[in-house]
Amino acid sequence: MIEVIAGSMFSGKTEELIRLLRRAQHAKQPIQVFKPRIDNRYSDTHVASHDKNLFPSTLIEHAREIETRLRPETRVVGIDEGQFFDDELVQVATRLADRGIRVLIAGLDMDWKGEPFHPMPALMAIAEKVQKLQAVCVVCGGSASRTQRLVKNTDSVLVGDHTAYEARCRQCYDITFATTGRSETHLDEVVELAGV
Ligand code: ADP
Ligand code: MG
Ligand code: ZN
Repeated sequence: MIEVIAGSMFSGKTEELIRLLRRAQHAKQPIQVFKPRIDNRYSDTHVASHDKNLFPSTLIEHAREIETRLRPETRVVGIDEGQFFDDELVQVATRLADRGIRVLIAGLDMDWKGEPFHPMPALMAIAEKVQKLQAVCVVCGGSASRTQRLVKNTDSVLVGDHTAYEARCRQCYDITFATTGRSETHLDEVVELAGV
């Protein structure tokens, strides 16, 4: 079975992944957790949430390492930051799930441009279960589905935290800011629309 936890940054994906992993631990199911080497922001040895919740994990470069490092007894595989893996993650997750392993994958559903962040869309399509989590929009307090890049940088991947990104709703999200450094959001108008 494949279960996906998707949403913007700060929406609680890693917290939810850790919650599900702790439950599996209570059920005495052997667990292995992986995260991409690119994301060593908080820890090399643990999956870490913004609230500093931790769960031991292994850093890997490529999705196929999940299979080469898999222990025979493992029943639950957790993967954080799924969007930073290559497309092979879809085949790897499928093969593990076909063998009866529970595969939990957390990741960003959209990139900083608001576009689908591969391979998450394909994983969401083939998963038995999908959770779409939302953060709190830092502009209007509504439900945030987008990740606003706060720095002028058009690289497709820029690993960062609250100094580089914040959570925003569809209305408060401003793509021109990250590409030009100028804000085109009419904040007064948006706040009014949100009824704040
Ligand atoms: P994700 O993995 O989706 O980026 P985390 O699970 O690491 O999210 O962190 C979620 C936590 O981040 C929340 O419980 C909250 O304490 C904190 N947080 C910081 N900014 C926000 C925000 N704008 N909206 C919601 N939670 C936020
Ligand atoms: Mg996370
Ligand atoms: Zn908003």
